[in-house]
Amino acid sequence: MNYNIALLKGDGIGPEIVDSAVRVLEEIGKRYGHVFNFTPYLIGGCAIDACGEPLPRETVEGCLASDSVLLGAVGGPKWDTLPGNMRPEKALLGIRSAMGLFTNLRPAKLYPALKGDCPLREDIVANGFDIMIVRELTGGIYFGERGMRQGKYGEEAYDTEAYSRMEIERIAKVAFETARKRRKKLISIDKANVLESSRLWRKIVHEYSEKYPDVECADMLVDNAAMQLVRNPAQFDVIVTSNMFGDILSDEASQITGSIGMLPSASLSDNTRGLYEPIHGSAPDIAGKNIANPIATILSAAMMLLYSFSLKEESDAIINAVDKVLLAGYRTADLAHGAPSLSTTEITDKIIENL
Ligand code: NAD
Repeated sequence: MNYNIALLKGDGIGPEIVDSAVRVLEEIGKRYGHVFNFTPYLIGGCAIDACGEPLPRETVEGCLASDSVLLGAVGGPKWDTLPGNMRPEKALLGIRSAMGLFTNLRPAKLYPALKGDCPLREDIVANGFDIMIVRELTGGIYFGERGMRQGKYGEEAYDTEAYSRMEIERIAKVAFETARKRRKKLISIDKANVLESSRLWRKIVHEYSEKYPDVECADMLVDNAAMQLVRNPAQFDVIVTSNMFGDILSDEASQITGSIGMLPSASLSDNTRGLYEPIHGSAPDIAGKNIANPIATILSAAMMLLYSFSLKEESDAIINAVDKVLLAGYRTADLAHGAPSLSTTEITDKIIENL
């Protein structure tokens, strides 16, 4: 098969880590008989420098014309003083909205080889954990009505959380389908004891639960979920939650893996085209030194193979290769704690050797 992939390398370490993922995909293409065509487009600070705007129209059009999109990261001190709508990070919101990406999938997995990096007590993570957070990405309080007004005690600001049946139904469907492909256990997180929007969320998730009898589904209040994630993370398989709760809980979950350079993400729409990116930023402090950890981006490419192209075997081959390389003791500087480490290109070579 032929696949057209738009590459948004971005700033800082973006070009180095995307190049690593491209090398891995090219090797997968050779071994499994696929052709991946890569077309680079500008985004973020480099786009501001070249075109005067963080998200040029050509980039949006290129992404919409592609089969899928792989993004490195954007931003850096050079552009930090620009006004809000000219900041590199503005391009991220722009491309997500142009592509209609309403689902964010964020896995948080503790690799057995990296248990020592987890900030939780050893007995809590003895069996590791492997969580998939399904976060609603385009609704809720981040997009609700907001403003300033004069209240009883003077100046007052407000933001509103609103969710429609359509928005909840489509994310519930993604969550149940995701759970079905994993350990078939879904926890829906809300604040239904207080919020009306959560009560509608819960009602619709329950309706969907009847359509997926093979998936065990339960509710959990968000405050309890925040505690449970550090008390017993292994109890979770798939979590589905709203935009704001997902924002907070997915960062908490990523921290307990202890390794920001390892975590991929996928943002999906109602077609197969998605946007795949590591959860970390552009790491300007290590940019250009060939020491960044490319694994989060390589695993983002693995997610692309699975979620956009339905190439499970190829996707698993990448995940298994990463596992093998870590088990063999190879580390980039961020995971080596001062011990000898491999460069970005060297660890990529090792992953390719183990495909
Ligand atoms: P960051 O994630 O870039 O870096 C935080 C720390 O983690 C740094 O010490 C960095 O060196 C390290 N780190 C991150 N990724 C790494 C990797 N792959 N390998 C090894 N070490 C890694 O966060 P920050 O420093 O807060 O932000 C830097 C810039 O990135 C800012 O301009 C910010 O706005 C931007 N940012 C972009 C995105 C994105 O593009 N999606 C996300 C977050 C931050």
